[in-house]
Amino acid sequence: MSDIEEHRKKIEEITLEMIKLLKIRTDIAKQIGDAKANLGMTVTDEEREDALRTQVTKLCKEIDLDQSTALKFLNLLLNESVKVQSDGKQTHLSVFLKAKALEEEGKKIIHLEVGEPDFKPPEEVKTALAEVYDKGYGKYGPAKGITELRDEISLHEDKLLLGLGSGAEIKVENIMVCPGARFAVYLAISTLLNPGDEIIVIEPSWPAYKDCALNAGIKVRTIKTTLETKWEPSIDQINNAINENTKMIVLNYPNNPTGKYFPEKIQDSIIEIAKKHDLYVLSDEIYAEFAEHTKIPTSGVSFKSVLEYNYKKSIITKSFSKSYAMTGYRIGWVVAEPSIIDKISKLQALSLTNVSEPIQYVALQAIKTEEAVAENSRIIKSRLDTLVKIAKDIGLEFIEPDGAMYLFAKTKHKDFDATKFSEKLLEHGVAIAPGEGFGDYKEFFRITAIDETRLKEGMIILDTVLKESYE
Ligand code: PMP
Repeated sequence: MSDIEEHRKKIEEITLEMIKLLKIRTDIAKQIGDAKANLGMTVTDEEREDALRTQVTKLCKEIDLDQSTALKFLNLLLNESVKVQSDGKQTHLSVFLKAKALEEEGKKIIHLEVGEPDFKPPEEVKTALAEVYDKGYGKYGPAKGITELRDEISLHEDKLLLGLGSGAEIKVENIMVCPGARFAVYLAISTLLNPGDEIIVIEPSWPAYKDCALNAGIKVRTIKTTLETKWEPSIDQINNAINENTKMIVLNYPNNPTGKYFPEKIQDSIIEIAKKHDLYVLSDEIYAEFAEHTKIPTSGVSFKSVLEYNYKKSIITKSFSKSYAMTGYRIGWVVAEPSIIDKISKLQALSLTNVSEPIQYVALQAIKTEEAVAENSRIIKSRLDTLVKIAKDIGLEFIEPDGAMYLFAKTKHKDFDATKFSEKLLEHGVAIAPGEGFGDYKEFFRITAIDETRLKEGMIILDTVLKESYE
């Protein structure tokens, strides 16, 4: 046998051996997952992962192997463990599907778990839908979106920034239209990062950032924040989560599920850290318009968009879903440097050619209706106020939201299990989102600020079931 043949044979043997070891490792990970579920433990254990990381680094030095490659390989293995251990979690989506099934059986359900406004899109949308056929919108188009809409979005964003003195200027090249913020998040994570890279997610968090990263073989570093620290991370927590493979940090403020945004100082520090380590900042600002009218006089905080930092590695995702109440239209946008827009639009072109042209035309008419957004924002604010008041009256524990459309709360009862409670509550006709869908928050649940009559009705039932179960 020639030398090369001999080496090839050896490589094959080693690779097959590694696959067998992967099978053994995955089986053990599953067993650990079952044990963790029985003990009520979380899937990810950052301390254990760090300890293993240290051992790998040490081994690399001993055997003279490139550390960065080895750590990426380790991240892939850790991700596989997370994947096999993550089944069976209750999220707002799984509760929603159960609630829908009950409705099909004829039961009446009050949906406090949903993540969508229950009001109608602006009237202009109706007119636009009626005229779009005759206008001839309905062909293939550019992957980044039709120029008229990108142009209008850039004006909209520029206007929001105007007068803030940030120096940022939004042009058409900075905008890409996409079918909702969710897809924008998926595109950004999948195209800007590589398998084995790391991404930082601050929890509690909307689950898609983590899921997109896992799907793309990217390691998630979670930073857990607590009610006690007003859902704010410490700068040490952020710094400690960064290593040579860290490539992105995700921000989502006003936050789903807490409704909070950070005091300016914390956000300024996070951006400084991102700049220092050359990290992408993925800022999901889908609820930004639901913050304008929620300035809190007592705390003096007001929402600051990441756009204001004029940071070249920031990606801002926005949508027509919430502020325009157009969830089912599936349309949103990204604001970023043209080089980033070019990269992410390639995957958009590959996967869907372009966003539906008629819907882009409808969105173009919607974005010109500023008053509708202001009105929707006022409605949400008023509902949130009502929700906060009721939640206080019935003794829930929470931090008052600064924006978005949710309340993230727990009860005063020790060992309260929100997943079990949400199952029981659903039997009584009220759906809520269990906290475990947003990270390690089994004792919390999220309530959406829906219309006030239904909201009050739902909260009375919630209070009654709570008392019956725990007092
Ligand atoms: N980001 C956050 C924080 C959300 O809560 C949601 C919807 N629940 C989305 C993005 C998805 O928005 P879209 O409908 O634009 O995909």
